[in-house]
Amino acid sequence: MAAQTADLIVVGAGQGGVPLAVDFAKAGKRVVLFERKHLGGTCVNVGCTPSKAFLASAHNAGRARAAAAIGVHCDVRLDVPAVMKRVNAIRGEWHDGVEKRLRDASVQIVMAEAHFVGERTLEGGGVTVKAPIVVLDTGTSPACPPIEGLSEVPYFTNETFFDQTNLPRRFIVVGGGYIGLELGQGLRRLGCEVTILETGKRLIPREDADATEVLAKALRDDGVDLRVGRQATCTHGPGEVSVRLDDGTEIKADAILVAAGRTPNTGALDCAKSGVELDERKFVKTDAHLRTTCKGVYALGEVAGQPAFTHVSWEDYRRVKAVIEGGTRTKDDRVLAYCTFTEPQLGRVGMNEEEARRKGRDVRVVTYQLEDDARAIEWNLQRGFYRLVVDAKSDEILGATLVGYEAGEFVHTILAHMEAGSTWRVLERSVHIHPTFNEGLPSLARKLL
Ligand SMILES: Cc1cc2nc3c(=O)[nH]c(=O)nc-3n(C[C@H](O)[C@H](O)[C@H](O)COP(=O)(O)OP(=O)(O)OC[C@H]3O[C@@H](n4cnc5c(N)ncnc54)[C@H](O)[C@@H]3O)c2cc1C
Repeated sequence: MAAQTADLIVVGAGQGGVPLAVDFAKAGKRVVLFERKHLGGTCVNVGCTPSKAFLASAHNAGRARAAAAIGVHCDVRLDVPAVMKRVNAIRGEWHDGVEKRLRDASVQIVMAEAHFVGERTLEGGGVTVKAPIVVLDTGTSPACPPIEGLSEVPYFTNETFFDQTNLPRRFIVVGGGYIGLELGQGLRRLGCEVTILETGKRLIPREDADATEVLAKALRDDGVDLRVGRQATCTHGPGEVSVRLDDGTEIKADAILVAAGRTPNTGALDCAKSGVELDERKFVKTDAHLRTTCKGVYALGEVAGQPAFTHVSWEDYRRVKAVIEGGTRTKDDRVLAYCTFTEPQLGRVGMNEEEARRKGRDVRVVTYQLEDDARAIEWNLQRGFYRLVVDAKSDEILGATLVGYEAGEFVHTILAHMEAGSTWRVLERSVHIHPTFNEGLPSLARKLL
């Protein structure tokens, strides 16, 4: 069959691909978008949206229980089917909204897995299209970690977890990264018995050890059984899974959730047919402007090896769009922030001390404990600390780690200072409202005086 022609082909209806397709189509360009599973990609269907809706119920239950410590006794009765129904309704609305945006803009949607059949030419679902510009936004999929027996055991991943209409009583979560900790704590707060198994030496190793220690203690206090640094073997019998640890312990459960790393969705693309090279980890190789090794083909978001966050993929879209239109944006021209949505949260922006020292920076580091914070004391939310890393000579703010109640919100204050190129001295002289959690940030900077 002869190839159709288009002005732009987008492969993957993820966070960057959708707005790019819509913008070009609205500008009168002919755009074809291939999507093999669900419009909106991971975030909307099986990532941020369902997980945060799930955590909203879980953390409300946790907060209601914790209120007893300040004299408010709540009778927490869980309606888990209602929780899951709400999760599914919210992600359904977002999914439908994405579809409407694409259709309203007259993007041609092909619901099929696409692969290259030639230079800037893709085929999928019986449709073959050639275009001068191709953008790959194919994301990643959950990886199966090398745990003996795991591949023979039925398990959930984020792709299937939110399809549940009720929750089994006992869960083993494999993976002590941010997804494993968030969903593990969520499951526990919604009434499940939960074991989180991390075979590596530490939870979220890119974070400061004392920051992850605060999270570990919070999860343990919730009743999560955390097993870190243990090797394991999995087996399953009728209606039950079992994990034997290298210390001889056996943990039985009704279900396993695997949240232990991601692999890039490049296997099906047959990138070589278009001269698009992959790196040694099978991510698409891109230069600073998100251009691949084939002229006219760009990659963005997770498949381009970018940090695995929705706001990164979305921001990449603005960069790719600018580059296609002759601009010079690069993939690193931004301050990166992110959050682990456990309670307490871990909000991060820029570099931590270890990363800054690795980059050869001469740093000063200060820490402010929330146990000394007025708002935290009044609300009985003293778990955590705020930490600032600054350049010892220029006073530039290099990064911050905030662990505490809604810390993912407050980290934006630091982000704004960093984007504005201000120094810790500007933060120090800012007078924040008393008593707020944000008031802790100038107090933190004052420790540098
Ligand atoms: C449980 C969970 C919770 C998360 N929570 C957060 C959070 O709170 N905040 C945050 O910032 N990030 C979060 N993330 C990460 C975030 O979801 C991802 O970083 C983001 O969705 C990546 O976007 P993307 O555009 O790179 O790819 P994706 O959104 O993954 O989109 C890729 C799309 O490409 C499609 N595709 C793949 N191959 C092909 C092919 N050959 N042909 C056609 N289509 C194809 C896929 O089906 C998919 O729809 C979470 C992730 C998970 C798993």
